[in-house]
Amino acid sequence: MRESWQQQFAASPDTLLDPARQRTRVHVRDLFVGGDEFIVMAGPCSVETEGQLMATAHHVRQAGARILRGGAFKPRSSPYAFQGLGLEGLKLLAAAREATGLAVVTEVISEDDVALVAEYADILQIGSRNMENYALLEAAARSGGPILLKRGMAAAIGDFLRAAQLILDSGNPNVILCERGIRTFEAAMRNTFDAAGIALLKHVSHLPVIADPSHAAGHRDLVPALARIGVAAGADGALVEVHPDPDRAWSDGEQSLDFSGFDNMMAALEPWIAWRATTLNIEQLEQHATSGLRCVETVP
Ligand code: PEP
Ligand code: MN
Repeated sequence: MRESWQQQFAASPDTLLDPARQRTRVHVRDLFVGGDEFIVMAGPCSVETEGQLMATAHHVRQAGARILRGGAFKPRSSPYAFQGLGLEGLKLLAAAREATGLAVVTEVISEDDVALVAEYADILQIGSRNMENYALLEAAARSGGPILLKRGMAAAIGDFLRAAQLILDSGNPNVILCERGIRTFEAAMRNTFDAAGIALLKHVSHLPVIADPSHAAGHRDLVPALARIGVAAGADGALVEVHPDPDRAWSDGEQSLDFSGFDNMMAALEPWIAWRATTLNIEQLEQHATSGLRCVETVP
C-alpha cells in the first residue's frame, strides 16, 4: 500500500493491509469468506413464506451458492412497505439452513435484536442505512460472530473503513465489507456500482470484500454483468437477490433474479471465477502489470 493511502486512511489503521498482516479470512461454518473460494450468497430480499424460502434455498444451493440470504427485519425507505416477518423469518432461515446446509446471513436493524438475530444467523448483516449507527455496530460486534458490513449509500471509502474499524476496536475481527452501490447524479440505476471502490478496498485493506450487484443495479437485467465486474475488481464473493417469482416479491422484486436467471448468472460467472483462481491474488496481477509483464493470457 502506498504511503498516501496510509495517510488518507490513517484513522482506520487496523483495517489496513500491511506487509506484517495476512489477509483476513472470515470463518463461517464450513467455509471461509476472503479465502480462495469465491463465495456466492443468494436468496430473497425478504423472507416471505416457508415455500418461497425453501424453494429458493434448495435452488441456489444446487446452483452453487454457499450462503443463504434473506431479510427478517427490513429497514425500508418507506414506513408503509413490508417490514419483515421478524422472529418467524429467523426461524424459517434456520429451517432452510437445516434442510440445505447453507449458512445464513440476515440483517439486524436494532441493538435490541442483536442477541436474537445472532442466535439464528451465521453472519449478521448491517445494512447500508445503518453503517454509521455506531451503537448498533458495537452491539453487533459484541456478538463475536461474523459481520457483513454494507457500505452506506453516501459513505466515502474512508467512512466505510472507519465504520469497520469500530467493529475491530470492539474486539471482533470477523468483518466482511460489502459494496452495494452509492448514490450519484446517475438516476438510471438504483445506485452506482463502485467497482473501483472494490479494487481500492482490496488494495488498502486486509478485510474480505463482497459485491452486491442487486442493490447496486436495482434492475435484474444488469445483475449478471455487475457480478462479473465484481469478480474482475477483486471481490471475494457476491450477494445476489433471488426469488421464485420476482414480480410478486414483497420487496426488491425488480432487482431479483428468478431461478433460471440465477442459473444463467452463475454459468456466466464461471469462467471469471476460474480466471480469479489463476491470478491467486490481485496484487500479483498488479505486480505483473506494473513490471511490464503481460498477463493477458489469464483473462477468460
Ligand atoms: C438488503 O440486503 O436487502 C438491503 C436492505 O440492502 P442495503 O442495506 O444495501 O440497502
Ligand atoms: Mn433488498
